[in-house]
Amino acid sequence: MRTVDLIEHKKRGGEHAPDDIRALVRAYHRGQVPDYQMAAWLMAVRWQGMSLAETEAMTWGMVESGDSLDLGELQRPWIDKHSTGGVGDKLTLVVVPLLVAAGATVVKLSGPGLGHTGGTVDKLASIPGLRLSLDAGQLLDCARRAGGCLAGHSGSLVPADGMVYALREATATVDSLPLIAASIMSKKLASGAETIVFDVKVGRGGLLGDLAASRDLARTMIGIATRAGRRAVALLTAMDQPLGLAVGNALEVNEAVDVLRGGGPADVRALSISLCGAALRAAGLAPTAEGGEARAAELLDGGAGLGALERIILTQGGDAAAVLTPAGLPLSPLSRTITTLRSGTIARVDALTVGNASVILGAGRSVKGEPVDRGAGVLLHVKGGDTVRSGQALATAYGSDQARLEAGARRLAQAFSWAGDGETLWPPAHPRTLAAHIAELLLEKVGPQGDQPRPVVDRA
Ligand code: URA
Repeated sequence: MRTVDLIEHKKRGGEHAPDDIRALVRAYHRGQVPDYQMAAWLMAVRWQGMSLAETEAMTWGMVESGDSLDLGELQRPWIDKHSTGGVGDKLTLVVVPLLVAAGATVVKLSGPGLGHTGGTVDKLASIPGLRLSLDAGQLLDCARRAGGCLAGHSGSLVPADGMVYALREATATVDSLPLIAASIMSKKLASGAETIVFDVKVGRGGLLGDLAASRDLARTMIGIATRAGRRAVALLTAMDQPLGLAVGNALEVNEAVDVLRGGGPADVRALSISLCGAALRAAGLAPTAEGGEARAAELLDGGAGLGALERIILTQGGDAAAVLTPAGLPLSPLSRTITTLRSGTIARVDALTVGNASVILGAGRSVKGEPVDRGAGVLLHVKGGDTVRSGQALATAYGSDQARLEAGARRLAQAFSWAGDGETLWPPAHPRTLAAHIAELLLEKVGPQGDQPRPVVDRA
């Protein structure tokens, strides 16, 4: 079918044959479809949506554009983890070492941050010497020696996703559920893991603010994964406030290490343990999610997770001592602490505003390819539910440029809302919400043998 006919068909809400979508993605990747036609088709999809079969076809079209990883002789259960992105989301740095310590192989490929959400690869790049650009052979070598690796996306895996994603950013078509699902799933399927745990964020700081849309995204990704013979499990987790207290690259690595030492903010610890529990159960390394959580907590408190992180860093050429020193990685030289003139209870610290403040400070990018300031960001001193007195510090902003520091601190000051000003106190008193930020746990496992799907599990 001609590309213009595909655009017309989708514009009118029609469903494509899977082969037509695969052919479109293939042709775009080969340069046979121009950007303007692909952009028009993406916008039609943004408004008309895609069925699961169409989304699956787009996923495979992108997988077929590049290489796929094969762990070959590595026998341990192979797990992958994916977050849809949030503010202060350093969970990969805690979860991957814990899963490795629990006996899984984890080859975690991450992307850079864009917009208000941080990217794991930017956080990792604040570790001196750590090699993040690894080819398939090097990834396998690290997995063999350290049990896992933490690296950037290889250009040889799903190159079509990179092209489509860049076009989506330039054409305001990122916020499309099937396009997000196809983009994420193409990377997960090409990365090869047998079991995938998804952390799907819900709330103003996430990609999709709405619980129903986030649940749909989780179900779509689980559907594609299970039809590909993979085991998949998803947690829907709240992203109304930043996770933990640290937002920024070096700041978040330091906080993740605190958590792996048995300290750190309770929400980061609890959510890391929940993700590990769900993943270990789905991979067959624990009989139940609760059993997996208990194992993860044991590995965390016993220091095995920290040991696994150290091995991964060393295997990738990184300076583990710089990460593990009590002072942590260095922060940017300039700082500004925001204090309040008001006494009362903080209702919520808005994740989106903190994320944007962090970008202004230099910790993130406003445009693709912009360099980031590794030591910049925000350290919160309070979260929703905390009662403060006049004169108390709410947060500290870090940066390397005076003008950016002032602008970032001004934005940061807007993130705090007060109980009694019409705001619901966070965490909201919703029966399905845990104080640990876990909005809801969606557990579905359909193995290659066709186990029956499990219903949504309400954990509250
Ligand atoms: N993460 C991805 O990898 N792709 C998207 O489209 C959105 C989030």
